[in-house]
Amino acid sequence: MEKKIIIAIDGFSSCGKSTLAKAMAKALEYVFVDTGAMYRAIALYFLRNNIPFNDTASIEAALHAIELRFKYNSASQKSDMYLNGENVEQEIREMQVSQKVSEVASIAAVRDFAVAQQQAMGVDKGIVMDGRDIGTVVFPNAELKLFVTADPTIRLERRYQELLQTNPAILKEEVAANLQQRDLMDSTREHSPLKQASDALVLDNTNLDRAQQFELAMQWAMEKIKSIPNE
Ligand code: C5P
Repeated sequence: MEKKIIIAIDGFSSCGKSTLAKAMAKALEYVFVDTGAMYRAIALYFLRNNIPFNDTASIEAALHAIELRFKYNSASQKSDMYLNGENVEQEIREMQVSQKVSEVASIAAVRDFAVAQQQAMGVDKGIVMDGRDIGTVVFPNAELKLFVTADPTIRLERRYQELLQTNPAILKEEVAANLQQRDLMDSTREHSPLKQASDALVLDNTNLDRAQQFELAMQWAMEKIKSIPNE
């Protein structure tokens, strides 16, 4: 049997990381983990419970009270995020969470909490994980690291179209401001900022459709898998 690897996918907001990661995991029969959903669920808990983002004691206590779980949804054929047993998949994608998630994700205790769980999910390999620090911090030894990029105007259009489906009143300016703000915060924060791992392969999908992007990434993955000797 082919050896299983870890595939780490990082990049800026809305550049198609999750779509790619999900498709690769399906094709390879690997586990797919959207780490952004974990930070979003934590941010939702903090917002609902009015946890001040600068109060270490409250943050520590809140993290102890949070249980995150992914559960497969056969209708949508993807995993939904559960926060303390509640399906929050829809709510964590709403603007009120998007506006605060990067601030929450910049807190060291929050990152330690999420990263420990992400690393535990990868012990048996056979995983495709997407986020901002997967190739640099979560799995620095991942066999395949992809850094996905796309032109900012393309990213904005894709995210806007996606959000329009659930919120027809959403304004493009609002989406643009949120993407810019998150990209800036994510790449300049002190703890585990978004950056390209030195051994990551760059996948610029500005001029690629989903199928072309998938084909290229799968080619890299298969080359990597085949290059690893069986025990
Ligand atoms: O991937 P998504 O856009 O849903 O992620 C939401 C936010 O979660 C990001 O803007 C970032 O602030 C945070 N995040 C992170 N590290 C990760 C994944 C997401 O800081 N590995």
